[in-house]
Amino acid sequence: MEEKEKTFLDEPVIHWGELTRENLLCLSRYVDVALLPVGSLEQHGPHLPLDTDSYDAKYILEEAVKLLDCPKPPILPTVAYGVSDHHMSFPGTVTLRPETLEAVIMDIGRSVATHGFQKLFISNGHGGNTSVLNVVARKLKKETGLLVFIDSGDSMEPGKKELVKTENDVHAGEYETSTSLANRKELVDTDAIPELEMNFPHPSMSFDHKPNFQFAWDTHELSSVGVLGDPSKATAEKGRELWKLGAELMAERIKIVMEMRGYL
Ligand SMILES: [Zn+2]
Repeated sequence: MEEKEKTFLDEPVIHWGELTRENLLCLSRYVDVALLPVGSLEQHGPHLPLDTDSYDAKYILEEAVKLLDCPKPPILPTVAYGVSDHHMSFPGTVTLRPETLEAVIMDIGRSVATHGFQKLFISNGHGGNTSVLNVVARKLKKETGLLVFIDSGDSMEPGKKELVKTENDVHAGEYETSTSLANRKELVDTDAIPELEMNFPHPSMSFDHKPNFQFAWDTHELSSVGVLGDPSKATAEKGRELWKLGAELMAERIKIVMEMRGYL
């Protein structure tokens, strides 16, 4: 029996930027969801690369998409900068103002909607972006009808709960160092991994405290080493399991979004 010729639609991952305009048009007839990684360029302690959030936001999308049936939604190029003002006292951080990030995502959303996509699924690798993205989601819905879904590390949560033992582990700690050891070991300076050193003004203001009681902190106020969590507990094995569980849940979520009808 003659084998059916493979096309770009059979690729395990489809990157928007690598398609011709004709192939993008063709794909938009099959799928109405576009995927957008949003990250940051900010200090991640003395031991992790500055682009950790951007790399991770894209990586989990790629791993999730591999688990989906064809045809798959395309992954837009990563928005590699985010709102990182709270890390500016450490070297290497480049931040956008919240209004700049809002303007960038609004324009990406408008463009995607113009080309026939009705939904935008954002994989957000950086907590500092979340409040802006929520505002954008509402504005884009009102202006263009585009439905925006935001996964700010939420797909990683069940795995984190199971595998990460450190409380308040949110930045360059056990979780992020494990995931980096799993897929970019060569970029982790394991000799520079610091001890746990984190102080909150009051116990009720810690990240894991319920009910939540947050304020606009700067990272150096909570940790002189710029690490929120305990990277000394990180292992590559833990990281691999975190990625696996996270990608599975994100794939499920993208599938739900792809199959959603009747909201538009
Ligand atoms: Zn990070």
